[in-house]
Amino acid sequence: MTRSMDKIVALCKRRGFIFQNSEIYGGQNGFWDYGPLGTELKRNVRDVWYHDMVSAHNELLQPAGAPATFQMVGLESALIMHPQVWKCSGHYDLFHDMMVDCTETRKRYRVDHVKGHWVKCNGKTVKLNKASSEADASAAEEADRVFVTTTEANAIEHVKEKALKLFELRAKDAERLQIEEQVLGLAAISAADRGKIFAPDASRAGTLTDPREFNLMMKTILGALGTQEDAAFLRPETAQGIFVNFKNVCDSTRVKLPFGICQVGKSFRNEITPRNFTFRSREFEQMEIEFFCHPSQSREWYTYWRDRRYNWYLNLGIAKDRIILRDHHQDELAHYSVGTADIEYAFPFLDAGEYGELEGIAHRGDFDLRSHMEGKLTKNAAGELEVEKLADGTPKYRGSGKDLSYFDDQTRERFIPHVIEPSAGADRGTLAFLCEAYHEDHQPDEKGEMQERVVMKFHPRLAPVKAAVFPLIKKEGMPEKAAEIYGELKAAGLSVNYDQQAAIGRRYRRQDEIGTPFCITVDGDTATDKCVTIRDRDSLVQERIPVDRIVDEVLSRLKA
Ligand code: ATP
Repeated sequence: MTRSMDKIVALCKRRGFIFQNSEIYGGQNGFWDYGPLGTELKRNVRDVWYHDMVSAHNELLQPAGAPATFQMVGLESALIMHPQVWKCSGHYDLFHDMMVDCTETRKRYRVDHVKGHWVKCNGKTVKLNKASSEADASAAEEADRVFVTTTEANAIEHVKEKALKLFELRAKDAERLQIEEQVLGLAAISAADRGKIFAPDASRAGTLTDPREFNLMMKTILGALGTQEDAAFLRPETAQGIFVNFKNVCDSTRVKLPFGICQVGKSFRNEITPRNFTFRSREFEQMEIEFFCHPSQSREWYTYWRDRRYNWYLNLGIAKDRIILRDHHQDELAHYSVGTADIEYAFPFLDAGEYGELEGIAHRGDFDLRSHMEGKLTKNAAGELEVEKLADGTPKYRGSGKDLSYFDDQTRERFIPHVIEPSAGADRGTLAFLCEAYHEDHQPDEKGEMQERVVMKFHPRLAPVKAAVFPLIKKEGMPEKAAEIYGELKAAGLSVNYDQQAAIGRRYRRQDEIGTPFCITVDGDTATDKCVTIRDRDSLVQERIPVDRIVDEVLSRLKA
């Protein structure tokens, strides 16, 4: 089975899952539109998440693996918040990526995305014939190795190809190349070595600027006559809306610790290099949980949420060998975190053995609530969190000054809760489910000839269309009966297709390609035996089911 990204992207466009944004004007980089089927699919991803995390959660029962019973509630905060929110959360100062520009190609790269390999030519001093100026040529002659960079997924092949050109070697000389396989981000290369770097599409070395910081938040001006003074930011995450409403939720509901507040919604980041289809977009949707608990229990809750969220993807059909739970190293942790794990998926656009993040589960301690109370926190030399101060000792950014602590009326204890944050991307999840669903096989057509079949094996809960209804032929009362069944399935709230065009095999293939789990056919016997045929997308098994049981049958198969 070939799960190539090109095929998946083509199918997404052909069948109306995902379109390039503003396509008729040449597109807008980093933004995507969901077509009719994509809208249903992504809505199902969000709905299934909300159902499993919030609406179907029973606070009277303790879920398997959980340290205690707990409550879960929802929240919907605005996309734009008071600018002080981002100052105290740390986003204003710290939410940046390092970027480099290529002075030759004018392309911009995120430092940690530029992979590179040191290339030598059999230990000999390598002459860089590609150097385009005197200065470069002499610098290159002294060099015995160069750092060839790429942003391509198949790094080694790309580097090899580039090095062959660079050293003016013939293809058969490829074995003479020594390529050190360790992949370094540019940040790890010393300033002295920077002159030996070949940027991804440059023809000479040393064209990359020193890395610079770039804030990822999108700015907007509020008010018709607004100036820079009135600048606000589109939220780069939904989480802060939850923290600033923590007190409101506690005061307006009867939630008791431990409990979770959940939010699904859009976030915006000025990504330097949006790419890999919807994986890295500038506008995307998040599904976030902030789970508040007593500090003494936060590690147990962290483990609980990490495992539960990982299993959520497995239960929705992601194969175990394509998804990993990766604990962050100490030096990878965000400024607030004492522990983080990522759930990562082997997207087809990545090299074998590489994974892309679907969701992060972070143990955030009391960083966020304390920051919004006291002001922006930072770690001091002893590793403790304290309010960041200016040289004159005044706080850099003051918090709200509001009391965001929690009072436990059973134990009479007042404390600032710890937070566990499972933060998932709805678009990345949708993309992973799309990639996972893609299958090709061969099935005989009406004439018995083998035809290639593309089948999207979505989990039934996620499938954009749950069932399709066909009359076998367009006469003898079959269309009327099929329309009746179609109406009943629609009335049950299901997304259903009706199709009476073309041979039945073609109709099945059309549904397979969009991942419809069940096809129901009204045929010549239906009028007498009061049964229809239901065909399963994956097993291809066809069964006869009484017409009056068809809605229950589909509903129960969807739940299975
Ligand atoms: P990355 O390292 O890939 O930039 P991140 O660690 O910054 O991601 P978080 O801040 O933890 O991401 O955001 C939580 C989730 O939001 C991510 O796991 C991902 O699913 C989603 N997400 C973040 N940035 C983007 C983006 N630019 N496009 C699509 N989804 C995103």
